[in-house]
Amino acid sequence: MIARVTLEIALRREFDYLIPPALVRQVEVGSRVQVPFGPRKVLGVVTALAEESDRASLKPILKVIGTQSLVTPKVLELARWMAAYYCCAPEIALKSVLPEAVRREQAGWRERLFVRALPVCGELPKLARRQREVWNIVEERRELPLQELVELAETTAGTVRRLEDKGLLTIGSEVSERDPYAHEHIIPTQRLPLNGAQANALEAVVGAMDASGATRPASRTFLLHGVTGSGKTEVYLQAIAHALEKGQGAIVLVPEISLTPQTVERFKARFCSGELQTLVAVLHSHLSKGERHDEWHKIRQGRARIVVGARSAVFAPVDPLGLIIVDEEHEHSYKQEEAPRYHARDLAVLRGQRENAVVVLGSATPSLESYHNCVRGKYTLVALPERADDKKMPVVRVVDMRQSARKEKGIPIFSPQLKEAITQRIERQEQTILFLNRRGYSTSLQCPLCGYVAACPNCSVSLTYHRKAARLLCHICGCEQKVPARCPNDKCRNPGIRYAGLGTERVEHTLHKLFPRARVVRMDSDTLKRKEDYRRILGDFRTGKIDILVGTQMIAKGLHFPNVTLVGIIYADMALHQADFRAGERTFQLLTQVAGRAGRGDVEGEVFVQAFTPFHPAIQYARRHDFLGFYEQEVEFRKQLGYPPYSRIALMTLKGRNEEKVKFTAGHLKREVEKRTSDLQGTLIKGPAPAPLLRAETFYRYQLTLHTRQMTELSHRLSSLTQESPLPEEVTLSIDIDPVDLI
Ligand code: ADP
Ligand code: ZN
Repeated sequence: MIARVTLEIALRREFDYLIPPALVRQVEVGSRVQVPFGPRKVLGVVTALAEESDRASLKPILKVIGTQSLVTPKVLELARWMAAYYCCAPEIALKSVLPEAVRREQAGWRERLFVRALPVCGELPKLARRQREVWNIVEERRELPLQELVELAETTAGTVRRLEDKGLLTIGSEVSERDPYAHEHIIPTQRLPLNGAQANALEAVVGAMDASGATRPASRTFLLHGVTGSGKTEVYLQAIAHALEKGQGAIVLVPEISLTPQTVERFKARFCSGELQTLVAVLHSHLSKGERHDEWHKIRQGRARIVVGARSAVFAPVDPLGLIIVDEEHEHSYKQEEAPRYHARDLAVLRGQRENAVVVLGSATPSLESYHNCVRGKYTLVALPERADDKKMPVVRVVDMRQSARKEKGIPIFSPQLKEAITQRIERQEQTILFLNRRGYSTSLQCPLCGYVAACPNCSVSLTYHRKAARLLCHICGCEQKVPARCPNDKCRNPGIRYAGLGTERVEHTLHKLFPRARVVRMDSDTLKRKEDYRRILGDFRTGKIDILVGTQMIAKGLHFPNVTLVGIIYADMALHQADFRAGERTFQLLTQVAGRAGRGDVEGEVFVQAFTPFHPAIQYARRHDFLGFYEQEVEFRKQLGYPPYSRIALMTLKGRNEEKVKFTAGHLKREVEKRTSDLQGTLIKGPAPAPLLRAETFYRYQLTLHTRQMTELSHRLSSLTQESPLPEEVTLSIDIDPVDLI
C-alpha cells in the first residue's frame, strides 16, 4: 500500500510513501506521520491511500504519531477539494482544517504535563536569574504545557521542577479540560411550541434528514428565509435535537461578529445540562490554544456532538454528521481573506452533499447567489415571513438629506425628523440605536486654500481623524500621525484646516451637545479595547443604563433589545458608492439588518434612514421590507452584465513595490491566461486594471478579473499556470476564487 502524504513544509504538492508492513494497521487517511525527506525527517498527514504510485523506489513511512487520526477522512477529502478549487497548496489547505493547537501537539494530550502558577502568599522566595525568567512567564500565563514553557524560556524541565520545590507552581499530568464557558451560569431552556411557519420549516428539514439516511442520495440544501425576529434559531434548535435523536451531530456556523456569549448560550442552554455538559463545543478565534485543543478533541472523540463556531468550524471533525446550519449565510465574513480563500457557506453545502448531511442556510436577507439557487431548483426555499412573537415590522421612513444639506454648513448629521424622534424617545424613556458604518471623527483632513489632503504614505487612502486619541489614522495599514495645527504644506501653512466627512466618534460628540442629559455610549472597535467591553456595554444597554447606543456594524446584527423603539441610520448610501457590483446588495442587507433591531418589544418600532440618494432601489426595497422585489431587479442587472450568479469570478491580484513592474507583469500574465483558457467557452478576462485600492501597505496592486461558468476547470488551469510560470522577483500573485470583496 502507498500513502499520499502532505508535508508540513511548504512544497505545494503531495508525496508518495510506502507503508511498511508493521504499520499497515495504523496508517489511515488522517494519520500524522514522520517520513524521510532528503536527509531530513519531516512531519506530514496522510491525505489519501493508493494501490500504486507513478514513482519507483519509494521510501517508507518511519512512524505514526498519536493513536487516533486527527481529522476524519471525509474532512481531508474536503481539504483536498478546497486546495484544488481555491488554487492553494495542499499544506495550506491542511493547516486550516487542523487548528495549530492540535497539529503542533507531539503526543496524545493525556500525557501532557501542565505547569500551573500557585498563589503566592507573602514575599516571593529568592530566585536565581534563570528561575526568575521562568517564573515571569508562568506568572503571566498562569497555566501552560511544560513543553511549551521549556521552549519559551529556553530552559530545562529541571529548572521548572526547582520552582515547584519552592512552592510557586505545580506540574501535573492530569487531563485538565479547559472550558471557555465554565464560569457562565446557564439556565436550561425547553423547546418552544412552534408557530405554523416554523413548524413547516422544521418538518421540511427533518423530512430531509430522515430521507438522507435511506439509500437515495441526499440533496437539498435548504434556504431558510426568515425576517429578523422570525424565530429561525428555534427551528435550528429543534432540527439539531432531531439530529441527536438519530445519533448524528450538527455544526452551526455563525459569523464571527455574532458569535457572542449570548448566541452560544442559546445553544448551550438547550443541550448542555447534567451529564451532557460537553455536548456543545465552541470554536472561534478568541479561544486560547489550550481551549481550542480541548474543544477539538471533545469533538473528535464524539463527546461533543454539536459545534457552534465561526467559519473554520466547517471543518470540525463531527462524525456522523447529520446537519449543518449556516446562520446569516449572506455574511461576507464567511469568506476567508487569506489563503486558502474559501467560503465557509459553499464548503458547508459541499460537505453536506458528501456526508449525506442536510444543510440549512438561514438569513433575513439571503445572498443573491443562494436565492438564485432556490429559483433554479437547486436549493429548497422555506420562508418565515413574520416575526415569531406577532410583533409588527418597524415602520421605515427615508429622509432626503439633500434638503438638510442645502440648509446647513458642512455635512448634516441629524435631520430635523431624526432629532425630533430621538427627543421623543428620551422623554418616553425608550432606547435608540444609531448606526454609521465608519469609525473615527471625520474621514479626511483638508486644506481649503491649497487643496492639501492628509493621505497615508503607504496606502492610497486619506487618513481618518480620531479626536479622542488626537491622531490621524490609516484604516488600511494602521499607521498614525500627529494632527497638524496648520496646513503641513510649507508654501501654505494655513491655520484654517478643515475636517470633512463623519464617523461614529463625531456622531457621539454631536449627540452629547444636542442631548446633554442623555446617556450616550459608542460601540466600535475603538471603544472596545478588551474582551469584556462588548459584554459590559450590551449589559448596560439591556438594563437601561444607556439611552442611545451609537455604533458601526458591530451593533447591526443579531441584537435583541425589546426597549429599542428607534433606529437611525445616519448615512445609508455610504456603501453604495463603492466600486463593487455588490454595493447595492450590501446596502440592502445592512439596512434590513439594522432596521430589524427596532420594535422587538411591545412598542412598535420606527426606523429613520437618512440618505442622499433616497430613491435608490436598495433603499426603497429595504424601506418596504421587500426582499423579493429587490432580488428581481438586482438579478436582472447582474444578468445583463454577466455578474454572479450568472457567472463566477476569479480575481488575480499582482502586488509589488515597483508600480511599472507590477503593471508589466499583469499584462504578461493576461496573455498567459488567455493562451491557457482560449478553449473555455464563455470565459472573459478583464484588465489588467489598477485595484480599486491601488496602493495598500506600500504595495501597488493590479488586477485581472476573470468571469467564467466553468470555475472548477479554470481553477485547475490557473493552478498549473502558477506552478509553471514563475513571477519576476518582488512581484507576488494572489488568486481569489469567488471573491466577495473586489478591492
Ligand atoms: P431570528 O433568529 O429569526 O432573528 P430569533 O430566533 O432571535 O429570530 O427569535 C426572535 C424572538 O422570538 C426570540 O425572543 C425567540 O425566543 C422568540 N420566539 C421564537 N420562536 C417562538 C415561538 N414559537 N413562540 C414564541 N416566541 C418565539
Ligand atoms: Zn495606510
